[in-house]
Formats: sequence, structure tokens, C-alpha cells
Amino acid sequence: MGHLRGNRHGKEPVQIATILKLYTVLQLAEGHRYGYELLKELARMTGKKVSPAQVYPFLKELQASGHIRVESKGERERTVYQLTAKGQEMSASITTRLSHMLDSGIKSRLVQCAHCGCQIYQGAHRERIRGRLLSFCCAACAAAFRKA
Ligand SMILES: [Zn+2]
Repeated sequence: MGHLRGNRHGKEPVQIATILKLYTVLQLAEGHRYGYELLKELARMTGKKVSPAQVYPFLKELQASGHIRVESKGERERTVYQLTAKGQEMSASITTRLSHMLDSGIKSRLVQCAHCGCQIYQGAHRERIRGRLLSFCCAACAAAFRKA
């Protein structure tokens, strides 16, 4: 997904190239997480068992680059992971870039209704009218087009 900005610590920018890393950042963007909570959520999001070895090196990297804060909390001194301001900035830029990617993916699939001009994402109503196969948002639009 390319380089991320905000390389203020003079280190290599953190690369978010896998879905697991992406989900890790998105999870932490929702709030602080205990290690076991994070693993559980990641397993839910990916539909696969996630082992600590898949996630902890990345968390260490995020900590070293100043994107997360790691603290021990509670009586049992459990480790809590939390985004710093820099980490929140990173997660916001990832979210923005993702929505652009999704937008362009969806836009290439949009079809216009030949009658009302609205944009159809899926399930266009198709009819052959006067020798042309046309797409409509609904049967009513097709009927109106036929009469016009
Ligand atoms: Zn229409």
C-alpha cells in the first residue's frame, strides 16, 4: 500500500502491506486493546486463528516508530496497546486511502439507468429496446423509456 507519511523519528516508515497489519491498526483505532483481545478480534475479522507470532513483531515495530504506546494495566499487569497521536494520524490516512480504493473499484462497476440516469451498483434491470440492450434501475424506468 505504499509508504506512509510522518517519518519524524528518522526511521523507515512502517509498511502496512498485509490484511493482518491493516486490521491491527484498524482495531487499535477503535480504542486500546489488551494483547489477547487484539488476537481474538483479529481472528474474528480474518476468520482464521491468529498466533501471537504473527502480530507481536508488528506491534513492536509500531511501538519503535512511535505509532503505539504499550502499557501494563490492572492487577494482573496485562499489556495494553494504544495508538499515539502519530498512530491515529496514520490510521486516518490509511482509512482515507482505503475508501478511495473502494470508491474507484465501485465506480468502475457502475452502470447508468438509460431512463433516469441514476447510477446502479448491481442488479440492473436489462431490456432490449429498439434493438439495443439497455440497463435500467427498475422495470418502471424501462417501461417509461419504451413509451418515450
Ligand atoms: Zn431509472
